[in-house]
Amino acid sequence: MKTRILIKEGEYRLTKAGVPDAAIDAEELYCFMKGCDKVILFLNKEQEADKETEEEYFRLIEKRASRIPLQHITGKQEFMGFDFKVGPDVLIPRQETEVLVTEAAKILREERKSAAGARHKSRGKLLGLFSSPPVQEVLDLCCGSGAIGISLAKICEDLSVTATDISEEALALARENAKANRVEIEFLKGDLFEAIDTGEKSKRVKTYDMIISNPPYIKSSLIALLQNEVKDHEPVGALDGGSDGLNFYRRIVADSYRYLKNDGWLMLEIGYDQGESLRDMIRETGHFREPEIIRDLAGRDRVVKCRKV
Ligand code: GLN
Repeated sequence: MKTRILIKEGEYRLTKAGVPDAAIDAEELYCFMKGCDKVILFLNKEQEADKETEEEYFRLIEKRASRIPLQHITGKQEFMGFDFKVGPDVLIPRQETEVLVTEAAKILREERKSAAGARHKSRGKLLGLFSSPPVQEVLDLCCGSGAIGISLAKICEDLSVTATDISEEALALARENAKANRVEIEFLKGDLFEAIDTGEKSKRVKTYDMIISNPPYIKSSLIALLQNEVKDHEPVGALDGGSDGLNFYRRIVADSYRYLKNDGWLMLEIGYDQGESLRDMIRETGHFREPEIIRDLAGRDRVVKCRKV
């Protein structure tokens, strides 16, 4: 059978099984199997596929047809142009989350630039040239695969990233991802701020330039309605935000000012219908300037950013 026909048959079987993006996945699985990219596939489409290739390909198609996520078959997902290993213990990094990371990187870079400018002025030209602005410290809560913190460390210069998660399995994978992407990240296990808290209330806590998080935010009652790939294969602990989906935000918004430097930023991914609730929640604390809501590429509210007073 020609490769082109093989892939069409793969697409047909995936469509029949209700797989979204069947055409893309049929090609991706072929490329994964052959270790090639889409250009090579395109050039080889008229070539005959041997029996072995056919069998192996349909084995992969069967897996995907049973609604195992593509990324659990290939073992990886690209995010911000970097490769991340993924598995059933972590949320597969989503494209929407790139909006959060892009916005955070923009802020961190701008702040660094203006800090460098200020130093330059105050120290005179020569000294300014030799002293770089201090390292910026970022805390990534509910880090999962580590995609957010690792991407930031890759994109921004001189960033010190601490990433926390409640799941030991997630942290093990995130450590692997940091190593594979060649960045140093401090990983800590714990329930939100508990991971970095010393437990002594009187002691001064460590403060950060930015706290960033994509916490679980789906309403519990909606989990059963998610597509099979998500509800049957991704960790519910990374999705379920309680009865109104806001449980994690309540805790993060209430406590984050203690762990932020003055003028520090709180950056959160949110569900498309949670912007107003987050705005109110943040305003009520009195610890932040007016929050700003940023939309994703589909035009839906996706990120809230605010600055500590
Ligand atoms: N955006 C994810 C989804 O729709 C949910 C991510 C989250 O809860 N943090 O499946």
